Amino acid sequence: MDARLEAIRDTVLARNPGEAEFHQAVVEVFESLGPVHDRHPEFLEAAILERLCEPERQIIFRVPWTDDSGRVRINRGFRVEFNSALGPYKGGLRFHPSVYLGIVKFLGFEQIFKNALTGMPIGGGKGGSDFDPRGRSDAEVMRFCQSFMTELYRHIGEYTDVPAGDIGVGGREIGYLFGQYKRITNRYESGVLTGKGVSWGGSLVRPEATGFGTVIFTEQMLRTRGTSFEGQRVVVSGSGNVAINAIAKAQSLGATVVACSDSSGYVVDEAGIDVALLREVKEVQRARLKDYAGRRPGVAYVDGGSVWDVDASVALPCATQNELDGGAAARLVRGGLVAVGEGANMPCTRGAVAVLQEAGVLFGPGKAANAGGVATSALEMQQNASRDSWSFEHTEERLTDIMVGIHDRCAATAEEYGEPGNYVLGANIGGFVKVADAMLAQGLI
Ligand code: NDP
Repeated sequence: MDARLEAIRDTVLARNPGEAEFHQAVVEVFESLGPVHDRHPEFLEAAILERLCEPERQIIFRVPWTDDSGRVRINRGFRVEFNSALGPYKGGLRFHPSVYLGIVKFLGFEQIFKNALTGMPIGGGKGGSDFDPRGRSDAEVMRFCQSFMTELYRHIGEYTDVPAGDIGVGGREIGYLFGQYKRITNRYESGVLTGKGVSWGGSLVRPEATGFGTVIFTEQMLRTRGTSFEGQRVVVSGSGNVAINAIAKAQSLGATVVACSDSSGYVVDEAGIDVALLREVKEVQRARLKDYAGRRPGVAYVDGGSVWDVDASVALPCATQNELDGGAAARLVRGGLVAVGEGANMPCTRGAVAVLQEAGVLFGPGKAANAGGVATSALEMQQNASRDSWSFEHTEERLTDIMVGIHDRCAATAEEYGEPGNYVLGANIGGFVKVADAMLAQGLI
């Protein structure tokens, strides 16, 4: 790492003790930024990096609610409003027991660069709670969401901060959150949340966008080597929103997705995952992946273990951070891997990324490859602002254009800085320069 940036990194890490995921995200970005500061010493003089690493605002609050037996429960809510140089804070809410400030800050930090890469006018933020929606009734989830919004509403707004979904927050949760926002404020402010139902202000393609976009980005990478998804053997981790839609899109382009997972285990389905059945099991019944195997003859369910033990030519990690480490990456490389597109945020450890890049595997980092979700959220905001709703085809076309644009911008930036094919460098520098220029123009704030 550049010596000038090392000193700033050390200060950032010391100021934010115990936030391992945030440290990891910061270090990964800093490692790319040396050459930018050679060309732009004004960024150092204006302390752009120090300011970028300090969120503009961090909100932590109590979320009291009662479970179905009447017992009082207390969770912790977060919203980190990281950077508004390019537009209102924008980023999802995650409900998962592992959520703490370090996770929210890593996600918010990544979001700044991702949102810049989309070319849309959105800043970066993220939030969530250590609430675990798994196994909770609809009524419990509703009471939790209402309590969460009873604090959050005062911090958000269509020109201020626009949350969306993430792990554990899908259409059901966004519905309860929006309902409570509307009730408290007495405003039908559609643009305050994205991921809404289509009949009440949502956008077609938003549910599919992150998974679809990841596959579109990965297809663009494959094309640089004269190949495509056609005929590829694909493994996907996770079986939530991003994973299911990545599977659907990859198979529509001629690939066979032979495995996917949840936090309990994975299935191997050599004939190709049956997307309709997977949606039924996971999205309608809210059941476990094990139940998919139970309903499809000849499909193996592996309890525990790692889905990365299954050979693939393309891997799409779509579950959670740090789920694919250096050992798994080396094993996949030995099994004939040619490309990885990160559908999740930071699913590959820094060790895994090093192994993949060393082996010449095409690697699309999450902040570029999974930006289709937030980009389509920005399209939802556009539709809300103009009180319009677009067709599926038109919206998907916009998403495709945006993903191809992100790919090309990352590729061109990597080339410009002397590392053709290094999408990590391209994404980090491409996102950073855009935000840094805006921060410089807006003065010391
Ligand atoms: P979902 O909650 O819909 O699905 C998450 C999936 O990942 C589930 O299959 C879940 O299994 C699995 N998973 C979650 N945590 C773990 C864990 N600790 N270990 C193993 N498996 C785990 O979330 P999304 O699909 O929305 O999000 C997946 C990833 O994509 C996240 O990294 C998110 O930040 C990222 N992302 C999402 C976007 C979106 O639009 N939704 C946009 C951009 C990025 P189980 O059911 O067993 O918990």
